[in-house]
Amino acid sequence: MAQSKGIMHLPLAQEFVQQVGGEFAFDLVKYCERLKRDTTDEEIAKKVKAKITEIRTALNRLHYRGIACYQKTRNQKTGWYSYTWNIKTKRIAELITEQQLEEVLKLEKKRDFEQNYVFFNCKKGCGNHPFEIAAEYQFRCPECGKTLESTNNEKKIRDINRNIKKIGNQLEEIKIFL
Ligand SMILES: [Zn+2]
Repeated sequence: MAQSKGIMHLPLAQEFVQQVGGEFAFDLVKYCERLKRDTTDEEIAKKVKAKITEIRTALNRLHYRGIACYQKTRNQKTGWYSYTWNIKTKRIAELITEQQLEEVLKLEKKRDFEQNYVFFNCKKGCGNHPFEIAAEYQFRCPECGKTLESTNNEKKIRDINRNIKKIGNQLEEIKIFL
């Protein structure tokens, strides 16, 4: 995917931005990304057809994660301050990458666990038991008395590997925005 399309074309980025900034964050970030210059909360509110308070809430939430940054300027005549906002798409890419790498670590741990520990269960599926417990019951289910057999966790491991690969592909897509 070309960078020119913008990070908000990635479903993962859409989901992430909404999760961080709330319901108006997606339109807000998409608008600012296309704009390529600083803008005010009023302008954003008008363009994405939201209330200014809703846009301010979204901006504050995005600011908290370092995605939205503002510049404060003082009007010499009125003495009032005005704020212009800027969206850091690179920061979005960084945060998503961090989050996804953490998820990969979790999945790898889970996979190692599945690979290293064999569990035993009966045909009725009363419950999984580790080897020591199954041996203690002489490989008879403590609930129903049927034979305990080692459970086949190959499918589980395959699913985990598939998820890890999927995240790897997503990280590749995100990389160009870093
Ligand atoms: Zn059983």
